[in-house]
Amino acid sequence: MFERNVVPSYARFDLVLERGEGSYVWDVDGSRYLDMGGGIAVCLLGHAHAEIADALHFQARKLTHVSNLYYHELQGRLAEALVDLIAPGRVFFCSSGAEANEGLFKLARKFGHEKSRYEIITALGSFHGRTLAGIAATGQDKVKKGFEPAVVGFKHVPFNDLEAVKKAIGPNTAAVLIEPIQGESGITVASKEYLLGLRRLCDEHGILLMFDEVQAGHFRTGKFQSWQTIVGDSEFLPDAVSMAKSLGGGFPIGAFWVKEDLAQVLSAGTHATTFGGTPLGCAVALKILEIVRRDQLAENARELGEFLKSRLQSLQKEFPRVLREVRGFGLMIGLDFFADAPGFTSSDEFPGTQTVKRLHSRGLLAIPAATAVVRLLPALNLSRGEAEEALEVISGVVSELA
Ligand SMILES: *Cc1c(COP(=O)(O)O)cnc(C)c1O
Repeated sequence: MFERNVVPSYARFDLVLERGEGSYVWDVDGSRYLDMGGGIAVCLLGHAHAEIADALHFQARKLTHVSNLYYHELQGRLAEALVDLIAPGRVFFCSSGAEANEGLFKLARKFGHEKSRYEIITALGSFHGRTLAGIAATGQDKVKKGFEPAVVGFKHVPFNDLEAVKKAIGPNTAAVLIEPIQGESGITVASKEYLLGLRRLCDEHGILLMFDEVQAGHFRTGKFQSWQTIVGDSEFLPDAVSMAKSLGGGFPIGAFWVKEDLAQVLSAGTHATTFGGTPLGCAVALKILEIVRRDQLAENARELGEFLKSRLQSLQKEFPRVLREVRGFGLMIGLDFFADAPGFTSSDEFPGTQTVKRLHSRGLLAIPAATAVVRLLPALNLSRGEAEEALEVISGVVSELA
């Protein structure tokens, strides 16, 4: 059915998943998998969470959708909760990460309009979504190929290189957009000095510093947003932040936050979307925030993440010809493999994909990235026992590759 009817834009694995429970999913043949990919950093409470199902059910029977022509309580409450978690400002709701970033692009352009500032500087290796402006913003050629001409106004610079940003800023620059932890290109963490330096540069030039936290955000690294993990407790703030993936835990909802003194930039009539902040989406997102707080899942992400990372780093020391590096924060971990490790075949399949297939055959789901990286982005309510199970499977595959 897929081959006949679905646009073949995804390279899918040979797995047909049918049901899930917590961090486990089952395929149609009844095989069980420990899901360490979390639907690419989406399912932060795992699968089929009873309280999320109840919240959806309750809200669906009360009020599902009203459009943004009207007020409803839940969008206001969710916006307030996100503001409380970041800083005074405003929130715009949408349905995906790409759409949240589109909002940031429009914010930057509107902000710079009177001074003819429209250019946005982004990093090489970044990923900002698959819309036309999203692929123009993304610092990877593979997403752009065949879709030229590109949307104008994006400039790419090497990541973690402050001098490069300094050189790239010109009279037309409106903003800098960065993922504090690059996800799709293989879990690359920005340094604290880089983020602080970007803040200083943007202030000097009167331009916006915007963060794409679509993948790294929502408590995954142990704090609400990943820059808070990297920079630590300080006065540091970006001017705008995009969010999606874990925000709805599987219900499609995205958002961006913008700080208070930019609250009027996107005035009435300048930006909109039909599905932004529906009662249903907001009910789920609010329930998730409640559960994360009640069950101390940020702490769990931090502690279990440290446990996993240190054990995986020991594995790297044990197999230094197979694993180049293990990096990340909290439950956002990248395993970087040597492409010429003995176990990789010279097929056109990337080493990351080959590794993920071996993990699948041992009952574990993980996400390939770049060419030779495997990402772990599991649910934040993962248990210690599940983490140990994952380690055992990964150790098995790494020693097999050796
Ligand atoms: C996934 C992702 C996006 C795109 O989100 P979609 O919901 O797929 O549109 C944007 N930025 C980052 C950092 C992402 O990881």
